[in-house]
Amino acid sequence: GMPAPPAPTLGTRRRTRQLHVGPVGVGSDFPIAVQSMTTTVTADVNATLQQIAELSTAGCDIVRVACPSQDDADALAAIAAKSPIPVIADIHFQPRYVFAAIEAGCAAIRVNPGNIKKFDDQVKDIARAAKDRGTPIRIGVNAGSLDARLLAKHGRATPEALVESALWEASLFAEHDFHDLKISVKHNDPVIMVRAYELLAEACDYPLHLGVTEAGPAFQGTVKSAVAFGALLRQGIGDTIRVSLSAPPVEEIKVGTQILQALNLRPRKLDIVSCPSCGRAQVDVYKLAAEVTAALEGMDIPLRVAVMGCVVNGPGEAREADLGVASGNGKGQIFVRGEVIRTVPESRIAETLIEEALRLAESGEFA
Ligand code: SF4
Repeated sequence: GMPAPPAPTLGTRRRTRQLHVGPVGVGSDFPIAVQSMTTTVTADVNATLQQIAELSTAGCDIVRVACPSQDDADALAAIAAKSPIPVIADIHFQPRYVFAAIEAGCAAIRVNPGNIKKFDDQVKDIARAAKDRGTPIRIGVNAGSLDARLLAKHGRATPEALVESALWEASLFAEHDFHDLKISVKHNDPVIMVRAYELLAEACDYPLHLGVTEAGPAFQGTVKSAVAFGALLRQGIGDTIRVSLSAPPVEEIKVGTQILQALNLRPRKLDIVSCPSCGRAQVDVYKLAAEVTAALEGMDIPLRVAVMGCVVNGPGEAREADLGVASGNGKGQIFVRGEVIRTVPESRIAETLIEEALRLAESGEFA
């Protein structure tokens, strides 16, 4: 048959320079990558690799590990060698760990100019080491650790201050003909963060890593990240993303992936179309939607499942989906590809949907 037309997106991607973090292309020629950061002690190689494996399974494209001590720096080579996804070493305070991380074969290094004293003097050596090894560098400016000089000049971490810090560091690398840079200018306030990235996007053509820093616990952090990333991605701004949550990092990957899928910036996998239910509902929609989602989450096919509480919008949505239920009178009409295949009592709706989903998955139609 005819190939499906590409899913519409909201914005045209901003043109950027390209770079590679290990095998993952970063920049406007490549899909937007989802990142997270491990919470284990990096020096605990097994625990760190275990968490990286979980992140990779959840869909993480690139992982960052903290490197606050010599023991952590010593662990980088083993982690970089065994990780299934590229590893970025996160360096604050000690420039010597930058050299150690490059030497260890990390796929990229994140430096925070505000936190590396005498960093500017060492840029030449860092640029040479990184260039020799083909290691890109992320300049990660953070509102909480803005360069003291810029904090004094701007009074606080304004969008202009964040951008000035990032561009200053980038210019130091550029002086040494090093351009494999990715930049982030994170702030915990989505409005300031969005403005900072807009200014940065106008001022340079480096790829940008999006993040609302210290965004809060899962619910608040999800909303802040979703609105901020949405505002930027709508303008085509953003090449990698990280959702920061005070929650396990796998949750960050789920949210980041879902944000990209919602904007058609990544192919949708399981897409549950379920109604909020209302006074007309004739089945327990919350329970059905939760059961179907739990059973089908993680299925690796682009399946759209409609779970609808009554006949107002039910048959319409169920017909449009790959699979669906339109409920009425304690029964559910099960739709597959727009056709009613059977009617089952409420108690059997969830299991029937799950059965049919697995049948569709096995049919090879989605291969
Ligand atoms: Fe209410 Fe029916 Fe719409 Fe669900 S589908 S919200 S039950 S009218």
